[in-house]
Amino acid sequence: MVEYKCFQCGRRVAQEYVKKRIRCPYCGSKIIYKPRTVVTKVKAR
Ligand SMILES: [Zn+2]
Repeated sequence: MVEYKCFQCGRRVAQEYVKKRIRCPYCGSKIIYKPRTVVTKVKAR
């Protein structure tokens, strides 16, 4: 599950909101980012 975070108020925004409207449902900010970027670990053999 992917979670987004609002840049302004810092609250977590569900992906559903991001799909419909790229906007924070709490403060109306359009700046939403992913707090956790998926880090792919590559093990060197
Ligand atoms: Zn917000």
